[in-house]
Amino acid sequence: MLYLIKYGELALKKQNRSFFERKLVENIKKRFEQDVEIIRENGRIFVKTDLDKEMVLGKLKKVFGIVGICPAQEVELDINSISEHAVNIARKMFEKGCKTFKVETRRPNKAFPLDSPEINAYIGSRVLNEIPGFSVDVHNPDFVINVEVRKEAYIYSEEIPGCGGLPLGTSGKACLLLSGGIDSPVAGWMTMKRGVQIIGVHFHSFPFTSERAKEKVIDLTRVLAQFAGSIKLYVVHFTDIQKDLYENCPPKMITILMRRMMMRIADRIARKEGALALVTGESIGQVASQTIESMHVTNAVTDLPVFRPLIGMDKQEIISKAREIGTYEISILPYEDCCTVFVPKHPVIRPRIDLIEEAEKGLNIESMIENALSKSEIIKIEGGDVNDVE
Ligand code: ATP
Ligand code: MG
Repeated sequence: MLYLIKYGELALKKQNRSFFERKLVENIKKRFEQDVEIIRENGRIFVKTDLDKEMVLGKLKKVFGIVGICPAQEVELDINSISEHAVNIARKMFEKGCKTFKVETRRPNKAFPLDSPEINAYIGSRVLNEIPGFSVDVHNPDFVINVEVRKEAYIYSEEIPGCGGLPLGTSGKACLLLSGGIDSPVAGWMTMKRGVQIIGVHFHSFPFTSERAKEKVIDLTRVLAQFAGSIKLYVVHFTDIQKDLYENCPPKMITILMRRMMMRIADRIARKEGALALVTGESIGQVASQTIESMHVTNAVTDLPVFRPLIGMDKQEIISKAREIGTYEISILPYEDCCTVFVPKHPVIRPRIDLIEEAEKGLNIESMIENALSKSEIIKIEGGDVNDVE
């Protein structure tokens, strides 16, 4: 079977087009363990393989940059064979209840004796003759028979939507602050959709948070890795930092101080990994701590841009996206997060930066960061397996 890959937005990127296409081909290749043949010609990508159709579609639907996938038949370059296949497709669609159709032809192969309008007319009349009751509607047909005339001819009528966006790896790297909640995996997915490679950073408060809580984040990362091929996840030991803050700072400031420490550590990891931005799952006003004042105070510890792709989304919209991606069912499993372990009774929700900086004065921030990083674990997570790398 042959699959014609549509990749709309790429076509707009005139100068970079070839780079984007090559990356897309490379990403498709990496997704298949078995060899598939990938043909790139004249603004089209074709994937040729005998592997199970559902499996192939399942994988292709998770490659960013693909807008549509059209399972196509390869047909001998002869107007009779092309028409016969077109009639077969039309008959199946007629039996499914379709009443109108049109034929659309692209003919990069100019050596073919008929031009596109002639091919459309020829196939159209063959279908009309052989299937009484069918009619042509060029404006709003129930389905379209697409024909591409190349070295061979390709025929297709079905288009399965892909996830769109840009090929992963065409827009640099970012560090995703990944909790076990609903929001941050969605934020990561949306960032990856724009072609950005993600490095996960999770803060773990063992033994206050369990091994299961860590497993949950690994499972979430694995779902994201199905869209990325693989993802590197830092599991950062956060317990000592939380204890230090608890012992040395006003309780009502603990939440915001923890957030600043998370940002500092993520900043450090980003620099080591060559990532140029941080990503969080925050959305303005969603919970008391997600105020503009809080975001201002947390941003102040890093000069990397902080992306918050969910900023304008309602919870319900985020949840439906999480369901679509496949992270929701994992996110709602009831495991504790490090932020829920040391929650103050009356947290500051509109922090002032001067007072927060004052509260940090007695801390040795540098050594807190060093200690946390030295006790961290780095895990490489593939769409399927989990392997320790360091
Ligand atoms: P989420 O659903 O992503 O957990 P949330 O609604 O629970 O978000 P907060 O707890 O305020 O919101 O966290 C805000 C953001 O801070 C998260 O979206 C995530 O990016 C980051 N974050 C929170 N806890 C952690 C953690 N343990 N490890 C890494 N990042 C975290
Ligand atoms: Mg959370």
